[in-house]
Amino acid sequence: MSAQNPVPEPTGGPLVEGPADPEHDPRASYALEPDYVAALTRRVVSTTGETAQVDTPLNGAPLAHIPQSSAADVAEAFTRARKAQQAWSRVSLDDRAAMLLRLHDLVLDRQDEIIDLIVWESGKARKHAFDEPMHIALTARYYARTARQHLKADRKLGVVPGLTRVEVNRVPKGVVGIISPWNYPFTMALCDGLPALLAGNAVVTKPDAQTMLSALLGAQLLEEAGFPADLWQVVAGPGADLGPEIVGRADYICFTGSTATGKLIAQGCADRLIGCSLELGGKNPILILRDADIDKAAEGAVRAAFSNAGQLCVSMERMFVADQVYDRFVERFVARTEAMSLGASLDWGTDMGSLISQQQLDAVVRHVEDAVAKGARVLAGGKARPDLGPYVFEPTILEGVSPDMTCFGEETFGPVISIYRFHDEADAVARANDGEYGLNASIYSQDGSRARAMARHIKCGTVNINEAFGATFASIDSPMGGMRQSGMGRRQGAEGIHRYTEPQAVATQRLIRFAPMFGMSDEAYGKVMTANLRLMKKLGRA
Ligand code: NAD
Repeated sequence: MSAQNPVPEPTGGPLVEGPADPEHDPRASYALEPDYVAALTRRVVSTTGETAQVDTPLNGAPLAHIPQSSAADVAEAFTRARKAQQAWSRVSLDDRAAMLLRLHDLVLDRQDEIIDLIVWESGKARKHAFDEPMHIALTARYYARTARQHLKADRKLGVVPGLTRVEVNRVPKGVVGIISPWNYPFTMALCDGLPALLAGNAVVTKPDAQTMLSALLGAQLLEEAGFPADLWQVVAGPGADLGPEIVGRADYICFTGSTATGKLIAQGCADRLIGCSLELGGKNPILILRDADIDKAAEGAVRAAFSNAGQLCVSMERMFVADQVYDRFVERFVARTEAMSLGASLDWGTDMGSLISQQQLDAVVRHVEDAVAKGARVLAGGKARPDLGPYVFEPTILEGVSPDMTCFGEETFGPVISIYRFHDEADAVARANDGEYGLNASIYSQDGSRARAMARHIKCGTVNINEAFGATFASIDSPMGGMRQSGMGRRQGAEGIHRYTEPQAVATQRLIRFAPMFGMSDEAYGKVMTANLRLMKKLGRA
């Protein structure tokens, strides 16, 4: 593993500063200078006068001071959002879709700024940060182009053909609460909100405390794209304090984060009988079948396991490799992993960046040390790299992992993958389905139809064939989410927007009514209706 792009020196100042040579560096226009940070943090609904300091994982230097919201601030955010939503629900679908298309362009035009901010806050490699504006552009374009398909009033069969006209309206829920994690701070803060807005809702969002700036830049871009400012409210503070305040006021909750927190959210929503979608953790399997293209599989496995340093809900932590190709595959996978360049840097060129925090590094170290102490073998990596950045950990491949080791079944959420050999494909599927999670799986095989048939037996919400996670995640027309303890509901596709609406059936009855007519007795009416039911069945009507 080679080190690239030396860690930036801590500035020692109150805030990380921008480019050394502002005249010649395009970053000068959005360097993380106090004015830039203040313009973003102004958007937090906060009257407490309190701030929380955030440090950059690139070098541990202080990055920003984020104003903190109180329970009263959350209430105020909901008041503003409700008012804005009333006006917004009368804005035409075409106008809303046009704003999404403007957002698409803005995000592509401003991607350098967005990516810089993501890297400052998360420490991830630039190429992994790039996925975020790309995902938002894809999501904005998809929902803008399919707005009518998903939201137009839908005609349904009436009970009396020709005389009962039925249509289903998609009524916005009202104000949606979005609670998002730190791992993809820009896209996770925004992507679920775009269909909510398009469907006529307002949003109150609480991004993770470590990555508020990326989320606030998202809020700013929404406003620049034409969305009314009050439609998207941002609050900041500890999830345990603000979460219940949001769940207590919202008309629907969209949560992305850990399974443990997801269960608390679901309980809060059950108390109020409001709906929620939960995108939670995973312990995702990748299967390398005997007919896989070994080189392509090894290349894909690196992305599957080490994208965003493994801090990715859909990344792979368990790998099952067919006996016939095990040795050849593992040799190539280890070689590719060892060739990765590591570093904490704003520049392109690193294959993997930093973990986000000491807490995340501690969790990864704990999992690896526990596995090694109980007999697992380290085939690649295995160590922290403080020489490259305070929270950098090498991409790590473990062999000989057994059920008594923490990393066997618990999500590590770091760059650590365990490899297992299999002899029988049915057994591999059973082992892939082991445990309580069911988010994402990957299958490598040159026989697409065989792999697709296998996918049906895997209990995961998404299955990628000859790809790790990008094929499903970037296909916004398809639903994304988890089975079992990995979640409830889906983002993306029709499911991803319909969750924010109440289906409302409106039926208009003409000429005949649902009661005896023309002096008919109840008994005669019953007979006519019975005959009618028989006739409808004969005619083949649903
Ligand atoms: P987390 O559950 O601790 O935090 C996620 C969010 O919930 C944060 O904004 C946090 O402030 C908030 N929160 C914390 N306690 C809360 C409470 N009691 N009530 C309401 N909100 C609360 O998760 P994390 O550890 O920060 O994030 C990593 C986890 O997220 C991993 O398990 C990962 O798999 C999962 N994740 C899932 C997806 C997905 O799409 N399925 C995407 C990204 C991350």
